[in-house]
Amino acid sequence: MRRKIVAGNWKMNTMPAEGVELAKAVAAKRHEAGSNVELIVCPPFTHLSEVVKVTRGTGVAVGAQNCAAEEKGAYTGEVSAAMLASLGVEYVILGHSERREYYGETSETLNRKMAMAYANKLVPIYCVGEKLAEREAGKHFDVVGAQLREVVFNLTTEQFAHLIVAYEPVWAIGTGKTATSEQAEEIHAFIRKILAEKFGEAAENTPILYGGSCKPSNAPELFAKSDVDGGLIGGAALDADSFLGIAKAF
Ligand code: PEP
Repeated sequence: MRRKIVAGNWKMNTMPAEGVELAKAVAAKRHEAGSNVELIVCPPFTHLSEVVKVTRGTGVAVGAQNCAAEEKGAYTGEVSAAMLASLGVEYVILGHSERREYYGETSETLNRKMAMAYANKLVPIYCVGEKLAEREAGKHFDVVGAQLREVVFNLTTEQFAHLIVAYEPVWAIGTGKTATSEQAEEIHAFIRKILAEKFGEAAENTPILYGGSCKPSNAPELFAKSDVDGGLIGGAALDADSFLGIAKAF
């Protein structure tokens, strides 16, 4: 049985006090989702310390949205994986399309960030996904395949055993357009096949989350697919009821 996971990517939303309230509300309602689904919230850096405190022992884990590619030193504005781990953060989103697009993150950068995450025992939620033009040109398999081969294939077997992958078609993020459950299953199964090329049967255990305008109304159909193991949720994670509503889809 693969892990079922619903993770909320809050992006640059909520002021710290609001974020703490949101985390408390998620923790208070956590029982509404079954114990078979793991919940992770990923607030902005400024909220992490408090959010870790208010979720401790509640069955809600905390992730960051990014980490530095370097260990420490003269990197103004960066936050290291060690700093995150020291707060009690357990996960880190890496390779989100917004980071690739707006901050020029390449596979080379992401390889270094992944190494820093693993060196500090943070579990990466590694995001892949194609843009609209790439899907329309039928290149989505090539794009996603390359994003996996260039980064995930560099992991050791031990590291790979702890990886979470998120498939997030860029055209579905924050647009209200969702991949159909058939489109999601097709590419999730493809992702697992690519992972198996390198890691064999271990790929059967890798949670592959769907992201892109996932909400309580469409989550049941998406999560019913055999290779969709949960969701990475943006907008709908900013409301405890809708976040839990998605988690209840399992
Ligand atoms: C995301 O960016 O991780 C995401 C899935 O966003 P949304 O749910 O808002 O489309």
